Amino acid sequence: MKNIVKKLVILCLVIILLIGANLSYAATETELNNQKQENNEKITETEKKKEEVQEIKDQTVKQVQELDNQIDEYESQISNLNTQIEEANTKIEEATNKLNKAQEDYDNQQKMLEERIVALYEAGDTTYLDVLLSSESVTDFISSYYIISEIAECDLELLDEIQNQKTEIENAKKELEQSKKELTDAKASKEKVSSELQTSKNEKANYVEELSEEEKQLQAQIDEIKKDNVAIDAQIKAYQAELQRKLEEQRKQEQENNKNNGSSNGSNNGSSSSGSSGGSTSSSGFIYPVPSAYSRITTGWYYSDGRVHGAVDFGSGGINGQPVYAVADGIVVLAQALTTSYGNYVIIMHYNGLYTLYAHGQAGSIMVKQGQTVKQGQQIMKVGNTGNSFGAHLHFEVRTSPGTYNNRQNPYNYLP
Ligand SMILES: [Zn+2]
Repeated sequence: MKNIVKKLVILCLVIILLIGANLSYAATETELNNQKQENNEKITETEKKKEEVQEIKDQTVKQVQELDNQIDEYESQISNLNTQIEEANTKIEEATNKLNKAQEDYDNQQKMLEERIVALYEAGDTTYLDVLLSSESVTDFISSYYIISEIAECDLELLDEIQNQKTEIENAKKELEQSKKELTDAKASKEKVSSELQTSKNEKANYVEELSEEEKQLQAQIDEIKKDNVAIDAQIKAYQAELQRKLEEQRKQEQENNKNNGSSNGSNNGSSSSGSSGGSTSSSGFIYPVPSAYSRITTGWYYSDGRVHGAVDFGSGGINGQPVYAVADGIVVLAQALTTSYGNYVIIMHYNGLYTLYAHGQAGSIMVKQGQTVKQGQQIMKVGNTGNSFGAHLHFEVRTSPGTYNNRQNPYNYLP
């Protein structure tokens, strides 16, 4: 139990430290935004994977349906064959009955013939041979034999006829049996194919299930990252609120100082020792970020080829090494020296929720630090040519959030 309490206390301390760290400048807004962007890339990647899985699943489901149709087709053929086999069975049964009847007729007829011959024999106390051998004369023989043979021939003809019928029925029955065998064979082979199709269908149905499971897992991953993003958004908000509060505090402090001093040069413009651009202030409260002699915009919101520039450039001749000024009071949220992209650049957050970005400063010229408050007109670096720049110029952006390109605003609307 003591152990658990100890652990809980440590955990609480860690949480308090973490919260403190989040609100400090350790986790800056830009870092958080970068983290969010990484998360969004992961989401896109995972969603792509999920789409691929869905596509395979859709295809497999289609295959299952096709197999189902084929199986149905086979089942219907098998059912047809069953009907035909049943019909054949009925016919074979009929033939068997007929055959039995014919056999009975034949047996009766034969019995009748035998009885007649016996009767004749008994009556005449003679046989065909006896008649032949004992005939006293040819005429006698012929007449006796004639009578017997007439009757016997009639019986024999009948017997022959029945025998023929029997043979016919037997042949028909054989044919029926042959046809039944063929039907049964066809049925067996179709049943085999149908069973193979069923196996294949089951395999594919299992695969669909696996894919559904994979899809679910990918979606769970996406949901997890999205949750993480919500947490990051909350952190960004807390960070922004903290900055805003700090900024406000600074402002109040200054107003009080001005009151106490009774100073007449209360304007923000004049408070910087580095000197301002000397130009006017816009309705947004911004001044030019460079000295007025260099405030001509050389590239506007659009490039000459029509693509969006997303910024304005100050690139007049001789601007290299000129001071870059904060266009309004604020807090530095990023000061970074890159060799690519923006090169040496600074992002400042202002009271009105706007951010300004100053890029391509001279190497080693950045004079401000992340988290530091700056005054309007305060020099933050020197105009240079670092990063993705061809010729010294100041690349100046206005944003509604520091992290992404998507919310860049046309600086024309904010500058004097
Ligand atoms: Zn530019």
